[in-house]
Amino acid sequence: MKFELTNGKHKISDLEYLNDLRKVANHLKKNSLKMRDYCKENGALYSVNGVTRRFGNWTTILEKAGLKGEDSLKGVKYGEKEIKEEVLLADLVRVSTELNKPNISCSDYDRLGKYTVVTMGDRFGSWNKAKEKAKLKITKKADNSDEDLFNNILELWTLLGRQPKFGEVVSPNSKYHGATYARRFGSWKGALEAFVEYINNKEETIVAEEANTELIPVTTLKATKPKKEVKRKRTTRNINLRLRFNVLQRDNFKCKKCGRAPATNSKIVLHVDHIKPWSKGGETVIENLQSLCSKCNLGKSNLE
Ligand SMILES: [Zn+2]
Repeated sequence: MKFELTNGKHKISDLEYLNDLRKVANHLKKNSLKMRDYCKENGALYSVNGVTRRFGNWTTILEKAGLKGEDSLKGVKYGEKEIKEEVLLADLVRVSTELNKPNISCSDYDRLGKYTVVTMGDRFGSWNKAKEKAKLKITKKADNSDEDLFNNILELWTLLGRQPKFGEVVSPNSKYHGATYARRFGSWKGALEAFVEYINNKEETIVAEEANTELIPVTTLKATKPKKEVKRKRTTRNINLRLRFNVLQRDNFKCKKCGRAPATNSKIVLHVDHIKPWSKGGETVIENLQSLCSKCNLGKSNLE
């Protein structure tokens, strides 16, 4: 059940447009952006026409992207080669003050900052170091494992019913920020590719299943032979990430019973469930698994 990433054209989100404007401004080391500078040569992914069709006039666009006036930011004039460190730090403090939040997140900053989380990381070594330097609070978290990050992709994918885009890897739907994936895998695309490789890696699945099998006694039925205990291998009850994703994908990220999906109804939560319960001998294999919403899942367990 190998699958591939979607490469077709998708509808560009507002956030993707605005982030692209910020990216180009950052590339030019400017805190504003002239229309003529938003072009392919400067790394723009989209066109001025596309952006203006979406948002209206250029001033509105700059405002939305947090790139207001050409000298709106104290100390930086349009055309200055490099944005000063203290200006970057001041912008972190500004966002923190605006939100009245001593510990701002990557998503907060992407939403309200004049620059990007990536710029902060580049300049100060990491996002946390930038915050430290700005005397903001930081959250010390243990490094998340690849599996944690992949699990989050699965959840996001299930929620949307399709491959998530970079602009969608934000809270509250996503536990981790897109920048976290970019740091670990080079880019969001790189993260998706690593995820796909992980999901499609069958060999590893088999090894893991063998390593995790539990032994249960089974009595032989042949009357001619003396009764003796035979150990039979069973799959584990736990449904691993690969299986869960493969089942959800096979079922089109919809409940097998009622057909409802998180993508069209935000109240729906999908689970992967054993058709024949594991406790009654049902194995943890794709044929014995199905996607059910919590309501149908509950109904099922009440009948058992
Ligand atoms: Zn259902």
